[in-house]
Amino acid sequence: MTENAHDRVAAALAALRDSGGRRTLARQAVLQALANATHLSAAQVHDRLATAGMRIDLSTVHRILNALVTAGAVHVVPVRGRLTYGLADHPHHHAVCGACGDLRQLPPDLVDALIKVMNFKDFTVDRDGRDGGVVVYGRCDACRQPSEPA
Ligand SMILES: [Zn+2]
Ligand SMILES: [Zn+2]
Repeated sequence: MTENAHDRVAAALAALRDSGGRRTLARQAVLQALANATHLSAAQVHDRLATAGMRIDLSTVHRILNALVTAGAVHVVPVRGRLTYGLADHPHHHAVCGACGDLRQLPPDLVDALIKVMNFKDFTVDRDGRDGGVVVYGRCDACRQPSEPA
């Protein structure tokens, strides 16, 4: 695990503690898996834990992820019909490829201008880059047909 991932897990565990959640080995392992990826589904987290030799039920992984979302340590973004989870420590928005499910993080300042316009008009954006923010769906370069405009 990189130093950066280590810091991110520590920050998420602190958020969990502040919300009254317990710090368990299983929760720590789930956070470690998320810190080493952009976003993962519950099944992908489960697979990574199994690869690391940790035996945790998929239903337990779901329960842990829900607790982390409630604590505000993790946010949820739907990708091609299934929920994916990412650490919420660094605020960011998301661009998702509808064809292959590739998920990229968008820096907040890129999306802030759009949110300002929305709030000025007849709509208020009440999610920020911590709770999942704005999700933009489209096509990544690899999935775009050559004939389609860039
Ligand atoms: Zn995210
Ligand atoms: Zn794609």
